[in-house]
Amino acid sequence: MTSWFSTFRIRLTALLGGLSLLLGLGLAAYVNHVATMRLSEARGEILDGITRAIAGALAVDLREREREVVLLSESPLLMEGSLGRHEVRQTLNRILQTHPYYAWVGVVSSDGIVQASANGLLEGANVQQRSWFANGLQGAFIGDVHEAVLLAKLLPPQAPNEPLRFVDFASPILDEANQVRGVLATHAHWTWVADTILSALPRDSDVQGIEVLVLNAFGEVLYPYQAVGGLEIPLRGMPQDGHALVDWGGSQRYLTSTRQVRTNTVTDLGWRIVVRQPVDSALEPVYDLNRTLLLISILAATLFMLVGHRVAKLFSTPVERLHQAAQRITAGDESTHIHGESSVKEFNELFSSLQAMTSTLVERRQTVEDINTRLEQTVAERTAQLRTANEGLDRLAHTDPLTGLRNRRAADGRLHEEYLRSRRSHSQFSVLMIDVDHFKQVNDRYGHEGGDQVLQQVATCLAHSMRETDFVARFGGEEFIAILPDTDLSGAVQVGEKLRRILNEVEIAPVGHVTASIGVASSVGTESSEEMVIRHADQALYRAKRAGRNRVESWPQS
Ligand code: GH3
Ligand code: MG
Ligand code: MG
Repeated sequence: MTSWFSTFRIRLTALLGGLSLLLGLGLAAYVNHVATMRLSEARGEILDGITRAIAGALAVDLREREREVVLLSESPLLMEGSLGRHEVRQTLNRILQTHPYYAWVGVVSSDGIVQASANGLLEGANVQQRSWFANGLQGAFIGDVHEAVLLAKLLPPQAPNEPLRFVDFASPILDEANQVRGVLATHAHWTWVADTILSALPRDSDVQGIEVLVLNAFGEVLYPYQAVGGLEIPLRGMPQDGHALVDWGGSQRYLTSTRQVRTNTVTDLGWRIVVRQPVDSALEPVYDLNRTLLLISILAATLFMLVGHRVAKLFSTPVERLHQAAQRITAGDESTHIHGESSVKEFNELFSSLQAMTSTLVERRQTVEDINTRLEQTVAERTAQLRTANEGLDRLAHTDPLTGLRNRRAADGRLHEEYLRSRRSHSQFSVLMIDVDHFKQVNDRYGHEGGDQVLQQVATCLAHSMRETDFVARFGGEEFIAILPDTDLSGAVQVGEKLRRILNEVEIAPVGHVTASIGVASSVGTESSEEMVIRHADQALYRAKRAGRNRVESWPQS
Protein backbone atom coordinates (compact mmCIF):
# COMPACT_ATOMS: atom_id res chain seq x y z
CA MET A 1 0.00 0.00 0.00
CA THR A 2 1.39 3.40 -0.90
CA SER A 3 0.51 6.39 1.15
CA TRP A 4 1.59 10.01 1.17
CA PHE A 5 4.04 9.10 3.91
CA SER A 6 5.80 6.46 1.82
CA THR A 7 7.78 8.96 -0.25
CA PHE A 8 11.42 9.45 0.59
CA ARG A 9 10.99 13.23 0.60
CA ILE A 10 8.24 13.30 3.20
CA ARG A 11 9.97 10.72 5.37
CA LEU A 12 13.34 12.47 5.45
CA THR A 13 11.66 15.84 6.02
CA ALA A 14 9.57 14.46 8.87
CA LEU A 15 12.53 12.59 10.34
CA LEU A 16 14.84 15.62 10.43
CA GLY A 17 12.06 17.95 11.61
CA GLY A 18 10.93 15.51 14.29
CA LEU A 19 14.45 14.81 15.52
CA SER A 20 15.43 18.45 15.73
CA LEU A 21 12.14 19.31 17.46
CA LEU A 22 12.67 16.46 19.91
CA LEU A 23 16.23 17.57 20.56
CA GLY A 24 15.17 21.20 20.93
CA LEU A 25 12.35 20.38 23.30
CA GLY A 26 14.58 18.06 25.33
CA LEU A 27 17.22 20.76 25.60
CA ALA A 28 14.57 23.33 26.51
CA ALA A 29 13.19 21.02 29.20
CA TYR A 30 16.66 20.48 30.66
CA VAL A 31 17.54 24.18 30.57
CA ASN A 32 14.14 24.95 32.08
CA HIS A 33 14.76 22.50 34.91
CA VAL A 34 18.23 23.82 35.72
CA ALA A 35 17.22 27.46 35.35
CA THR A 36 14.13 26.95 37.50
CA MET A 37 16.20 25.40 40.27
CA ARG A 38 18.90 28.05 40.18
CA LEU A 39 16.50 30.95 39.85
CA SER A 40 14.11 29.78 42.55
CA GLU A 41 17.13 29.40 44.85
CA ALA A 42 18.35 32.88 43.99
CA ARG A 43 14.86 34.39 44.33
CA GLY A 44 14.37 32.53 47.59
CA GLU A 45 17.57 34.10 48.93
CA ILE A 46 16.29 37.53 47.95
CA LEU A 47 12.95 36.89 49.69
CA ASP A 48 14.84 35.63 52.75
CA GLY A 49 16.77 38.92 52.75
CA ILE A 50 13.51 40.89 52.70
CA THR A 51 11.99 38.75 55.43
CA ARG A 52 15.10 39.10 57.55
CA ALA A 53 15.15 42.88 57.08
CA ILE A 54 11.47 43.29 58.03
CA ALA A 55 11.70 40.94 61.02
CA GLY A 56 14.85 42.72 62.22
CA ALA A 57 13.35 46.18 61.79
CA LEU A 58 10.16 45.21 63.62
CA ALA A 59 12.15 43.59 66.46
CA VAL A 60 14.23 46.74 66.87
CA ASP A 61 11.09 48.93 66.79
CA LEU A 62 9.26 46.84 69.39
CA ARG A 63 12.28 46.82 71.67
CA GLU A 64 12.64 50.59 71.36
CA ARG A 65 8.94 51.21 72.07
CA GLU A 66 9.19 48.98 75.14
CA ARG A 67 12.32 50.76 76.35
CA GLU A 68 10.69 54.16 75.81
CA VAL A 69 7.70 53.21 77.95
CA VAL A 70 9.88 51.70 80.69
CA LEU A 71 12.13 54.78 80.81
CA LEU A 72 9.08 57.04 80.86
CA SER A 73 7.48 55.09 83.72
CA GLU A 74 10.67 55.44 85.74
CA SER A 75 10.65 59.23 85.31
CA PRO A 76 11.15 61.03 88.73
CA LEU A 77 8.15 63.17 87.77
CA LEU A 78 5.90 60.21 88.36
CA MET A 79 7.51 58.83 91.52
CA GLU A 80 5.71 61.19 93.82
CA GLY A 81 2.91 63.71 93.81
CA SER A 82 -0.40 63.55 92.00
CA LEU A 83 -0.30 61.61 88.73
CA GLY A 84 -2.91 63.97 87.32
CA ARG A 85 -1.06 67.19 87.86
CA HIS A 86 -0.38 69.70 85.14
CA GLU A 87 3.37 68.97 84.64
CA VAL A 88 2.63 65.34 84.02
CA ARG A 89 0.12 66.21 81.30
CA GLN A 90 2.59 68.64 79.72
CA THR A 91 5.28 66.01 79.62
CA LEU A 92 2.89 63.52 78.01
CA ASN A 93 1.92 66.16 75.42
CA ARG A 94 5.56 66.60 74.50
CA ILE A 95 6.05 62.91 74.16
CA LEU A 96 3.09 62.63 71.80
CA GLN A 97 4.42 65.47 69.67
CA THR A 98 7.92 63.99 69.41
CA HIS A 99 6.72 60.43 68.81
CA PRO A 100 4.25 60.63 65.96
CA TYR A 101 3.61 56.86 65.95
CA TYR A 102 1.94 57.15 69.38
CA ALA A 103 -1.80 57.59 69.24
CA TRP A 104 -2.20 57.95 72.98
CA VAL A 105 0.00 58.19 76.03
CA GLY A 106 -1.30 58.40 79.56
CA VAL A 107 -0.85 57.53 83.22
CA VAL A 108 -3.37 55.45 85.14
CA SER A 109 -3.66 55.25 88.90
CA SER A 110 -3.57 51.82 90.47
CA ASP A 111 -7.40 51.89 90.78
CA GLY A 112 -7.67 51.95 86.96
CA ILE A 113 -8.69 55.61 86.46
CA VAL A 114 -6.83 57.61 83.76
CA GLN A 115 -5.18 60.46 85.70
CA ALA A 116 -3.44 62.33 82.93
CA SER A 117 -2.99 61.88 79.19
CA ALA A 118 -1.65 63.74 76.18
CA ASN A 119 -4.32 66.15 74.95
CA GLY A 120 -6.40 65.06 77.99
CA LEU A 121 -7.90 62.14 75.98
CA LEU A 122 -9.79 59.62 78.13
CA GLU A 123 -8.82 61.39 81.40
CA GLY A 124 -11.10 60.15 84.17
CA ALA A 125 -11.99 57.00 82.19
CA ASN A 126 -11.87 53.63 83.92
CA VAL A 127 -9.49 51.19 82.12
CA GLN A 128 -9.46 48.53 84.81
CA GLN A 129 -10.79 45.91 82.33
CA ARG A 130 -8.04 46.49 79.77
CA SER A 131 -5.39 43.79 79.68
CA TRP A 132 -2.54 46.29 79.26
CA PHE A 133 -3.57 47.86 82.61
CA ALA A 134 -3.73 44.61 84.51
CA ASN A 135 -0.45 43.37 82.94
CA GLY A 136 1.15 46.81 83.25
CA LEU A 137 0.69 46.70 87.07
CA GLN A 138 2.86 43.53 87.07
CA GLY A 139 5.71 44.75 84.84
CA ALA A 140 6.64 45.89 81.34
CA PHE A 141 4.06 44.65 78.85
CA ILE A 142 3.36 44.69 75.14
CA GLY A 143 -0.22 43.96 74.06
CA ASP A 144 -0.79 42.53 70.61
CA VAL A 145 -2.49 44.57 67.95
CA HIS A 146 -6.21 45.26 68.48
CA GLU A 147 -8.82 47.60 67.21
CA ALA A 148 -9.36 50.86 69.12
CA VAL A 149 -12.19 50.70 71.66
CA LEU A 150 -12.52 53.95 73.56
CA LEU A 151 -10.33 56.06 71.28
CA ALA A 152 -12.01 55.07 68.01
CA LYS A 153 -14.35 58.05 68.14
CA LEU A 154 -11.81 60.48 69.48
CA LEU A 155 -9.01 60.10 66.92
CA PRO A 156 -8.93 60.64 63.16
CA PRO A 157 -8.46 57.44 61.00
CA GLN A 158 -4.89 56.71 59.99
CA ALA A 159 -5.44 54.71 56.80
CA PRO A 160 -8.44 54.62 54.43
CA ASN A 161 -10.82 51.67 54.81
CA GLU A 162 -8.98 50.52 57.89
CA PRO A 163 -10.08 50.87 61.50
CA LEU A 164 -7.68 52.33 64.04
CA ARG A 165 -5.50 49.57 65.41
CA PHE A 166 -2.99 49.80 68.19
CA VAL A 167 -0.19 47.95 69.80
CA ASP A 168 -0.25 48.62 73.56
CA PHE A 169 2.86 49.25 75.64
CA ALA A 170 2.57 49.51 79.43
CA SER A 171 4.95 49.71 82.42
CA PRO A 172 4.26 50.04 86.14
CA ILE A 173 4.90 53.40 87.95
CA LEU A 174 6.72 52.81 91.24
CA ASP A 175 7.22 55.12 94.19
CA GLU A 176 10.45 55.39 96.11
CA ALA A 177 9.52 52.37 98.20
CA ASN A 178 9.08 50.42 94.97
CA GLN A 179 5.34 50.27 95.56
CA VAL A 180 3.17 50.34 92.43
CA ARG A 181 1.23 53.54 92.21
CA GLY A 182 -0.06 53.27 88.67
CA VAL A 183 0.68 52.36 85.05
CA LEU A 184 2.17 54.36 82.20
CA ALA A 185 0.77 53.22 78.89
CA THR A 186 1.06 54.12 75.21
CA HIS A 187 -0.99 53.00 72.22
CA ALA A 188 1.21 52.87 69.13
CA HIS A 189 -0.52 53.27 65.80
CA TRP A 190 -0.40 50.02 63.76
CA THR A 191 0.51 52.14 60.76
CA TRP A 192 3.95 52.38 62.33
CA VAL A 193 4.37 48.63 61.59
CA ALA A 194 3.13 49.17 58.04
CA ASP A 195 5.65 51.99 57.52
CA THR A 196 8.47 49.81 58.85
CA ILE A 197 7.49 47.02 56.44
CA LEU A 198 7.21 49.37 53.46
CA SER A 199 10.60 50.92 54.15
CA ALA A 200 12.22 47.46 54.25
CA LEU A 201 10.63 46.37 50.93
CA PRO A 202 12.45 46.78 47.62
CA ARG A 203 10.96 49.51 45.46
CA ASP A 204 9.75 47.30 42.66
CA SER A 205 8.13 44.74 44.96
CA ASP A 206 4.71 45.67 43.53
CA VAL A 207 5.86 44.85 40.02
CA GLN A 208 7.34 41.54 41.16
CA GLY A 209 4.15 40.68 43.09
CA ILE A 210 5.93 40.47 46.43
CA GLU A 211 3.50 40.47 49.38
CA VAL A 212 4.35 40.75 53.06
CA LEU A 213 2.23 39.24 55.82
CA VAL A 214 2.59 39.57 59.56
CA LEU A 215 1.15 36.70 61.56
CA ASN A 216 0.52 36.56 65.29
CA ALA A 217 1.50 33.68 67.55
CA PHE A 218 -1.66 31.80 66.48
CA GLY A 219 -0.81 32.11 62.81
CA GLU A 220 -3.57 34.69 62.20
CA VAL A 221 -2.92 37.51 59.79
CA LEU A 222 -2.26 40.91 61.38
CA TYR A 223 -1.05 42.69 58.32
CA PRO A 224 -2.18 43.69 55.74
CA TYR A 225 -5.64 44.54 56.95
CA GLN A 226 -7.30 43.34 53.69
CA ALA A 227 -6.05 39.82 54.47
CA VAL A 228 -7.19 39.80 58.09
CA GLY A 229 -9.59 36.92 58.62
CA GLY A 230 -9.71 36.26 54.86
CA LEU A 231 -6.45 34.59 53.93
CA GLU A 232 -5.84 31.02 54.95
CA ILE A 233 -2.24 30.31 55.83
CA PRO A 234 -1.20 26.89 54.51
CA LEU A 235 0.22 24.62 57.18
CA ARG A 236 1.81 22.16 54.80
CA GLY A 237 5.19 22.94 53.28
CA MET A 238 5.58 26.24 55.11
CA PRO A 239 9.28 26.68 56.04
CA GLN A 240 10.21 27.73 59.60
CA ASP A 241 13.01 30.18 58.92
CA GLY A 242 13.85 30.18 55.25
CA HIS A 243 12.14 29.77 51.89
CA ALA A 244 10.26 27.10 49.96
CA LEU A 245 7.75 26.68 47.13
CA VAL A 246 4.40 26.60 48.90
CA ASP A 247 0.97 25.72 47.59
CA TRP A 248 -1.39 28.43 48.88
CA GLY A 249 -4.45 26.82 47.32
CA GLY A 250 -5.85 27.88 43.97
CA SER A 251 -3.82 27.50 40.82
CA GLN A 252 -0.98 29.74 41.88
CA ARG A 253 2.03 28.57 43.83
CA TYR A 254 4.18 30.98 45.76
CA LEU A 255 7.85 31.16 46.55
CA THR A 256 7.47 31.76 50.28
CA SER A 257 9.94 32.95 52.92
CA THR A 258 9.18 33.19 56.65
CA ARG A 259 11.01 34.38 59.75
CA GLN A 260 10.20 34.72 63.43
CA VAL A 261 10.37 38.26 64.84
CA ARG A 262 12.84 37.84 67.71
CA THR A 263 12.36 40.91 69.89
CA ASN A 264 14.27 40.34 73.13
CA THR A 265 11.44 42.16 74.89
CA VAL A 266 9.74 41.13 78.12
CA THR A 267 6.63 40.09 76.22
CA ASP A 268 7.30 37.91 73.22
CA LEU A 269 4.44 38.58 70.79
CA GLY A 270 5.45 35.55 68.68
CA TRP A 271 5.05 37.46 65.41
CA ARG A 272 6.11 35.83 62.20
CA ILE A 273 6.91 37.57 58.93
CA VAL A 274 5.81 35.83 55.78
CA VAL A 275 6.94 37.13 52.36
CA ARG A 276 5.52 35.48 49.30
CA GLN A 277 5.93 35.93 45.54
CA PRO A 278 3.93 34.13 42.84
CA VAL A 279 6.08 31.55 41.10
CA ASP A 280 5.09 33.06 37.75
CA SER A 281 6.61 36.39 38.77
CA ALA A 282 9.58 34.84 40.53
CA LEU A 283 10.39 32.66 37.55
CA GLU A 284 9.41 35.11 34.84
CA PRO A 285 12.93 35.10 33.35
CA VAL A 286 12.76 31.28 33.09
CA TYR A 287 9.45 31.54 31.26
CA ASP A 288 10.98 34.11 28.94
CA LEU A 289 13.90 31.75 28.38
CA ASN A 290 11.45 28.89 27.75
CA ARG A 291 9.54 30.87 25.18
CA THR A 292 12.79 31.81 23.45
CA LEU A 293 14.02 28.20 23.49
CA LEU A 294 10.67 26.95 22.17
CA LEU A 295 10.78 29.48 19.38
CA ILE A 296 14.36 28.52 18.55
CA SER A 297 13.38 24.82 18.58
CA ILE A 298 10.48 25.42 16.19
CA LEU A 299 12.66 27.56 13.95
CA ALA A 300 15.40 24.92 14.01
CA ALA A 301 12.86 22.18 13.25
CA THR A 302 11.46 24.20 10.35
CA LEU A 303 14.98 24.84 9.08
CA PHE A 304 15.88 21.16 9.37
CA MET A 305 12.66 20.21 7.58
CA LEU A 306 13.51 22.58 4.75
CA VAL A 307 17.05 21.19 4.59
CA GLY A 308 15.64 17.65 4.76
CA HIS A 309 13.23 18.40 1.93
CA ARG A 310 16.02 19.93 -0.14
CA VAL A 311 18.37 16.99 0.49
CA ALA A 312 15.61 14.47 -0.17
CA LYS A 313 14.82 16.25 -3.42
CA LEU A 314 18.47 16.07 -4.37
CA PHE A 315 18.28 12.29 -4.05
CA SER A 316 14.71 11.57 -5.11
CA THR A 317 14.60 13.68 -8.30
CA PRO A 318 17.23 11.56 -10.12
CA VAL A 319 15.55 8.37 -8.84
CA GLU A 320 12.16 9.60 -10.13
CA ARG A 321 13.73 10.41 -13.51
CA LEU A 322 15.30 6.97 -13.55
CA HIS A 323 11.88 5.46 -12.77
CA GLN A 324 10.26 7.39 -15.66
CA ALA A 325 13.04 6.34 -18.05
CA ALA A 326 12.64 2.71 -16.96
CA GLN A 327 8.86 2.94 -17.55
CA ARG A 328 9.39 4.34 -21.06
CA ILE A 329 11.88 1.56 -21.86
CA THR A 330 9.43 -1.03 -20.48
CA ALA A 331 6.70 0.48 -22.68
CA GLY A 332 8.92 -0.16 -25.71
CA ASP A 333 10.68 3.14 -26.24
CA GLU A 334 14.17 1.70 -26.42
CA SER A 335 15.62 4.97 -27.66
CA THR A 336 15.05 6.45 -24.19
CA HIS A 337 18.26 7.85 -22.81
CA ILE A 338 18.87 7.45 -19.10
CA HIS A 339 20.44 10.69 -17.98
CA GLY A 340 20.52 12.16 -14.51
CA GLU A 341 22.31 15.50 -14.57
CA SER A 342 22.60 15.07 -10.83
CA SER A 343 25.11 16.96 -8.76
CA VAL A 344 25.81 13.70 -6.94
CA LYS A 345 28.71 11.87 -8.59
CA GLU A 346 27.45 8.42 -7.57
CA PHE A 347 24.09 9.04 -9.26
CA ASN A 348 25.75 10.07 -12.51
CA GLU A 349 27.88 6.94 -12.41
CA LEU A 350 24.77 4.86 -11.74
CA PHE A 351 22.96 6.44 -14.69
CA SER A 352 25.94 5.79 -17.01
CA SER A 353 26.11 2.16 -15.88
CA LEU A 354 22.36 1.68 -16.31
CA GLN A 355 22.45 3.33 -19.72
CA ALA A 356 25.30 1.03 -20.76
CA MET A 357 23.48 -1.99 -19.34
CA THR A 358 20.23 -1.05 -21.10
CA SER A 359 22.03 -0.53 -24.43
CA THR A 360 23.77 -3.89 -24.07
CA LEU A 361 20.49 -5.61 -23.22
CA VAL A 362 18.69 -3.96 -26.14
CA GLU A 363 21.49 -4.95 -28.53
CA ARG A 364 21.48 -8.50 -27.24
CA ARG A 365 17.73 -8.72 -27.55
CA GLN A 366 18.01 -7.44 -31.13
CA THR A 367 20.66 -10.09 -31.84
CA VAL A 368 18.49 -12.80 -30.29
CA GLU A 369 15.52 -11.61 -32.37
CA ASP A 370 17.63 -11.70 -35.56
CA ILE A 371 18.86 -15.18 -34.72
CA ASN A 372 15.29 -16.24 -34.02
CA THR A 373 14.07 -14.86 -37.33
CA ARG A 374 16.85 -16.64 -39.22
CA LEU A 375 16.16 -19.80 -37.28
CA GLU A 376 12.45 -19.63 -38.07
CA GLN A 377 13.28 -19.14 -41.76
CA THR A 378 15.68 -22.08 -41.72
CA VAL A 379 13.14 -24.23 -39.90
CA ALA A 380 10.44 -23.26 -42.43
CA GLU A 381 12.79 -24.08 -45.33
CA ARG A 382 13.85 -27.35 -43.77
CA THR A 383 10.22 -28.24 -43.01
CA ALA A 384 9.26 -27.57 -46.63
CA GLN A 385 12.20 -29.67 -47.84
CA LEU A 386 11.25 -32.40 -45.40
CA ARG A 387 7.63 -32.25 -46.51
CA THR A 388 8.72 -32.53 -50.16
CA ALA A 389 11.05 -35.39 -49.28
CA ASN A 390 8.30 -37.07 -47.30
CA GLU A 391 5.88 -36.63 -50.14
CA GLY A 392 8.52 -38.14 -52.46
CA LEU A 393 9.07 -40.99 -50.06
CA ASP A 394 5.34 -41.44 -49.73
CA ARG A 395 4.97 -41.47 -53.47
CA LEU A 396 7.84 -43.94 -53.72
CA ALA A 397 6.32 -46.10 -51.02
CA HIS A 398 3.00 -46.16 -52.89
CA THR A 399 4.31 -46.36 -56.47
CA ASP A 400 5.29 -49.38 -58.45
CA PRO A 401 8.76 -48.66 -59.85
CA LEU A 402 8.31 -50.70 -63.03
CA THR A 403 5.02 -49.38 -64.33
CA GLY A 404 4.67 -46.06 -62.52
CA LEU A 405 1.21 -47.11 -61.31
CA ARG A 406 0.25 -47.09 -57.58
CA ASN A 407 1.39 -50.33 -55.86
CA ARG A 408 -0.42 -52.82 -53.70
CA ARG A 409 0.14 -50.79 -50.48
CA ALA A 410 -1.63 -47.81 -52.12
CA ALA A 411 -4.38 -50.16 -53.34
CA ASP A 412 -4.91 -51.48 -49.81
CA GLY A 413 -5.20 -47.93 -48.49
CA ARG A 414 -7.62 -46.90 -51.16
CA LEU A 415 -9.70 -50.01 -50.64
CA HIS A 416 -10.02 -49.23 -46.96
CA GLU A 417 -11.03 -45.61 -47.71
CA GLU A 418 -13.67 -46.78 -50.14
CA TYR A 419 -14.94 -49.30 -47.67
CA LEU A 420 -15.33 -46.59 -44.95
CA ARG A 421 -16.96 -44.17 -47.40
CA SER A 422 -19.43 -46.80 -48.62
CA ARG A 423 -20.42 -47.49 -45.03
CA ARG A 424 -20.83 -43.80 -44.33
CA SER A 425 -22.87 -42.96 -47.43
CA HIS A 426 -24.46 -46.40 -48.00
CA SER A 427 -22.98 -46.43 -51.46
CA GLN A 428 -21.44 -49.30 -53.38
CA PHE A 429 -17.97 -49.74 -54.88
CA SER A 430 -16.58 -52.40 -57.15
CA VAL A 431 -13.21 -54.07 -57.60
CA LEU A 432 -11.72 -55.52 -60.83
CA MET A 433 -8.87 -58.04 -60.59
CA ILE A 434 -7.08 -58.04 -63.95
CA ASP A 435 -4.56 -60.83 -64.70
CA VAL A 436 -2.60 -61.10 -67.99
CA ASP A 437 -3.13 -64.51 -69.56
CA HIS A 438 -0.17 -66.89 -70.03
CA PHE A 439 2.33 -64.32 -69.10
CA LYS A 440 4.86 -66.93 -68.18
CA GLN A 441 5.12 -67.75 -71.83
CA VAL A 442 5.88 -64.07 -72.64
CA ASN A 443 8.76 -64.22 -70.26
CA ASP A 444 9.83 -67.50 -71.62
CA ARG A 445 9.85 -66.23 -75.16
CA TYR A 446 10.94 -62.63 -74.87
CA GLY A 447 12.91 -62.78 -71.67
CA HIS A 448 12.32 -60.95 -68.51
CA GLU A 449 12.96 -57.54 -70.10
CA GLY A 450 10.36 -58.29 -72.72
CA GLY A 451 7.94 -59.23 -69.99
CA ASP A 452 8.66 -55.97 -68.20
CA GLN A 453 8.06 -54.06 -71.38
CA VAL A 454 4.68 -55.75 -71.82
CA LEU A 455 3.74 -55.03 -68.23
CA GLN A 456 4.56 -51.31 -68.68
CA GLN A 457 2.40 -51.04 -71.78
CA VAL A 458 -0.50 -52.91 -70.18
CA ALA A 459 -0.26 -50.49 -67.22
CA THR A 460 -0.30 -47.43 -69.48
CA CYS A 461 -3.24 -48.84 -71.39
CA LEU A 462 -5.21 -49.52 -68.21
CA ALA A 463 -4.43 -46.09 -66.76
CA HIS A 464 -5.60 -44.34 -69.91
CA SER A 465 -8.77 -46.39 -70.15
CA MET A 466 -10.03 -45.52 -66.65
CA ARG A 467 -12.01 -42.50 -65.43
CA GLU A 468 -10.42 -39.81 -63.34
CA THR A 469 -12.26 -40.94 -60.25
CA ASP A 470 -11.32 -44.58 -60.73
CA PHE A 471 -8.22 -46.08 -59.19
CA VAL A 472 -5.78 -48.47 -60.83
CA ALA A 473 -2.73 -50.17 -59.32
CA ARG A 474 -0.34 -53.02 -59.94
CA PHE A 475 -1.43 -55.66 -57.42
CA GLY A 476 1.61 -57.92 -57.94
CA GLY A 477 3.37 -59.75 -60.80
CA GLU A 478 1.22 -59.44 -63.94
CA GLU A 479 -1.93 -58.81 -61.87
CA PHE A 480 -3.63 -55.35 -61.70
CA ILE A 481 -6.50 -54.03 -59.64
CA ALA A 482 -9.07 -51.36 -60.47
CA ILE A 483 -11.29 -49.81 -57.78
CA LEU A 484 -14.43 -48.07 -59.01
CA PRO A 485 -16.19 -45.83 -56.47
CA ASP A 486 -20.01 -45.53 -56.59
CA THR A 487 -20.22 -48.34 -59.13
CA ASP A 488 -22.46 -51.40 -58.85
CA LEU A 489 -21.63 -54.87 -60.14
CA SER A 490 -23.17 -54.52 -63.59
CA GLY A 491 -21.42 -51.16 -64.13
CA ALA A 492 -18.17 -52.74 -63.06
CA VAL A 493 -18.70 -55.72 -65.41
CA GLN A 494 -19.16 -53.25 -68.27
CA VAL A 495 -15.92 -51.47 -67.34
CA GLY A 496 -14.23 -54.90 -67.15
CA GLU A 497 -15.50 -55.78 -70.67
CA LYS A 498 -14.26 -52.46 -71.98
CA LEU A 499 -10.80 -53.02 -70.54
CA ARG A 500 -10.63 -56.57 -71.77
CA ARG A 501 -11.55 -55.41 -75.28
CA ILE A 502 -9.07 -52.52 -75.30
CA LEU A 503 -6.23 -54.83 -74.16
CA ASN A 504 -7.16 -57.24 -76.95
CA GLU A 505 -7.08 -54.54 -79.52
CA VAL A 506 -4.03 -52.57 -78.42
CA GLU A 507 -0.71 -53.34 -80.08
CA ILE A 508 1.78 -54.33 -77.45
CA ALA A 509 5.47 -54.79 -78.31
CA PRO A 510 7.11 -57.13 -78.59
CA VAL A 511 4.27 -59.63 -78.34
CA GLY A 512 1.72 -57.88 -80.59
CA HIS A 513 -1.38 -58.54 -78.50
CA VAL A 514 -2.16 -59.79 -75.02
CA THR A 515 -5.32 -60.93 -73.37
CA ALA A 516 -6.37 -60.63 -69.76
CA SER A 517 -8.91 -62.32 -67.52
CA ILE A 518 -10.93 -60.06 -65.22
CA GLY A 519 -12.78 -60.93 -61.97
CA VAL A 520 -15.38 -58.40 -60.78
CA ALA A 521 -16.92 -58.06 -57.32
CA SER A 522 -18.90 -55.38 -55.52
CA SER A 523 -19.38 -54.42 -51.91
CA VAL A 524 -22.74 -55.65 -50.81
CA GLY A 525 -24.44 -53.68 -48.04
CA THR A 526 -22.55 -52.56 -44.97
CA GLU A 527 -21.45 -55.97 -43.82
CA SER A 528 -18.96 -56.78 -46.63
CA SER A 529 -15.37 -55.95 -45.75
CA GLU A 530 -12.66 -54.92 -48.21
CA GLU A 531 -10.96 -58.34 -47.83
CA MET A 532 -14.22 -60.03 -48.73
CA VAL A 533 -14.61 -57.96 -51.89
CA ILE A 534 -11.04 -58.82 -52.93
CA ARG A 535 -11.63 -62.50 -52.22
CA HIS A 536 -14.81 -62.46 -54.27
CA ALA A 537 -13.06 -60.70 -57.15
CA ASP A 538 -10.25 -63.29 -56.95
CA GLN A 539 -12.80 -66.10 -57.09
CA ALA A 540 -14.44 -64.50 -60.13
CA LEU A 541 -10.98 -64.15 -61.73
CA TYR A 542 -10.28 -67.83 -61.02
CA ARG A 543 -13.49 -68.74 -62.74
CA ALA A 544 -12.61 -66.59 -65.76
CA LYS A 545 -9.27 -68.40 -66.03
CA ARG A 546 -10.94 -71.77 -65.77
CA ALA A 547 -13.54 -70.80 -68.29
CA GLY A 548 -10.83 -70.26 -70.90
CA ARG A 549 -9.32 -66.86 -70.18
CA ASN A 550 -9.84 -63.52 -72.00
CA ARG A 551 -13.11 -63.21 -70.10
CA VAL A 552 -14.89 -61.15 -67.54
CA GLU A 553 -16.46 -63.02 -64.64
CA SER A 554 -18.25 -61.56 -61.70
CA TRP A 555 -19.07 -62.53 -58.20
CA PRO A 556 -21.80 -63.49 -57.71
CA GLN A 557 -22.06 -65.15 -60.99
CA SER A 558 -24.56 -63.43 -63.31
P1 GH3 B 1 -2.31 -67.89 -66.48
O1 GH3 B 1 -2.94 -67.66 -67.79
O2 GH3 B 1 -2.89 -69.03 -65.78
O3 GH3 B 1 -2.34 -66.68 -65.72
O4 GH3 B 1 -0.84 -68.28 -66.77
P2 GH3 B 1 0.39 -67.45 -66.48
O5 GH3 B 1 1.57 -67.98 -67.08
O6 GH3 B 1 0.16 -65.99 -66.70
O7 GH3 B 1 0.44 -67.65 -64.90
P3 GH3 B 1 1.54 -67.80 -63.78
O8 GH3 B 1 1.04 -67.14 -62.55
O9 GH3 B 1 1.88 -69.21 -63.68
O10 GH3 B 1 2.78 -67.01 -64.25
C1 GH3 B 1 3.00 -65.71 -64.04
C2 GH3 B 1 4.32 -65.35 -64.44
O11 GH3 B 1 4.59 -63.98 -64.47
C3 GH3 B 1 5.34 -65.97 -63.56
C4 GH3 B 1 6.43 -64.92 -63.44
O12 GH3 B 1 7.69 -65.29 -63.89
C5 GH3 B 1 5.96 -63.76 -64.28
N1 GH3 B 1 6.25 -62.51 -63.73
C6 GH3 B 1 5.77 -62.14 -62.54
N2 GH3 B 1 6.24 -60.87 -62.28
C7 GH3 B 1 6.99 -60.51 -63.38
C8 GH3 B 1 7.72 -59.29 -63.70
O13 GH3 B 1 7.74 -58.37 -62.96
N3 GH3 B 1 8.35 -59.28 -64.89
C9 GH3 B 1 8.33 -60.32 -65.72
N4 GH3 B 1 8.98 -60.21 -66.89
N5 GH3 B 1 7.69 -61.39 -65.41
C10 GH3 B 1 7.00 -61.53 -64.30
MG1 MG C 1 -0.98 -64.35 -62.35
MG1 MG D 1 -1.39 -64.69 -65.65
